[in-house]
Amino acid sequence: MADYKIWMNGRLVPQAEAVLPVNSAAVFYATNVFEGLRAYWNPQDEELYAFRLAEHFQRFRESMKMMRFTVPYGDMDLYEAVRTVLSGNQLREDVHMHMVAYVTGPGLDATGPTGLYINPRLRGRVTEGKGLAACVSSWRRTNDNAIPIRLKSGSNYQNGRLATLQAKADGYDTPIFLNQRGTVAEGSGATFFMVRRGRIVTPTTASDILESITRTTLIEEVCPNILGMDVVERDIDRTELYTADEAFFCGSGYEITPITSIDRFPLGSGEVGSITKRISTAYLNLVRAVDSRRSEWRTPTYRRVAV
Ligand code: PMP
Repeated sequence: MADYKIWMNGRLVPQAEAVLPVNSAAVFYATNVFEGLRAYWNPQDEELYAFRLAEHFQRFRESMKMMRFTVPYGDMDLYEAVRTVLSGNQLREDVHMHMVAYVTGPGLDATGPTGLYINPRLRGRVTEGKGLAACVSSWRRTNDNAIPIRLKSGSNYQNGRLATLQAKADGYDTPIFLNQRGTVAEGSGATFFMVRRGRIVTPTTASDILESITRTTLIEEVCPNILGMDVVERDIDRTELYTADEAFFCGSGYEITPITSIDRFPLGSGEVGSITKRISTAYLNLVRAVDSRRSEWRTPTYRRVAV
């Protein structure tokens, strides 16, 4: 992977210089919040369009508020940082970025000072269209009364890490979490959708899931307006997983990643489903501006605009 420079607290620095103090709450207690987002290169416009930047900034601010961080940045500061890291690395291709806010003070009660870095990296399609073999994890999703899973706090990901390592040790590609109520929550780093009896279904945001931006993109635009199919938001029971016709994960990083079996039950024919393929194509056309709808969701990063 290319060794891109990192934007850290106002400067572009080589990866080796982007370091955190060992006694910071960020290192010791994982006191960080972050966003994972993609920007897509458009050769016609010679422009890198960041997808749904405003929504990522909004969730980033909510995460900092919820985790009681001192917040020294406005949206325009964040936008300038994104522009600087992309143009400073002369990126003219699709790119994934991690934008991370972290607390450098020591101790459990530290709320600042808050640092910020943006780490750009190349990241292709997660499976290049291949289907994942998923399992229902024996680890449960952490509950909203324990830690705010609906936002993106780095510490939440220890839950996903344990489930992922367990799934791999057991011979699967990836876990699906149930929540404490025993209904389906999500993947370790992606939202879950299934197709069952001709309906596209996903858990509600009261299911201990991240409030995913890709999820709303599918619910508000891709499924109803491009494919003419509404998404049903409701609880999903475990046995519905095994009798689903199709399933997939979605997310800024995952885009649309098919699931073809769960606990070794093949879904439908056991191949990537046709509705999943149509959703994937429509989503990628939208983020790449091949489909010109919702232009407000694609923010140029070489040309400066108001955000
Ligand atoms: N759930 C979890 C736990 C995630 O980490 C992600 C990736 N951010 C998602 C869902 C998908 O969220 P989004 O569509 O906003 O990227």
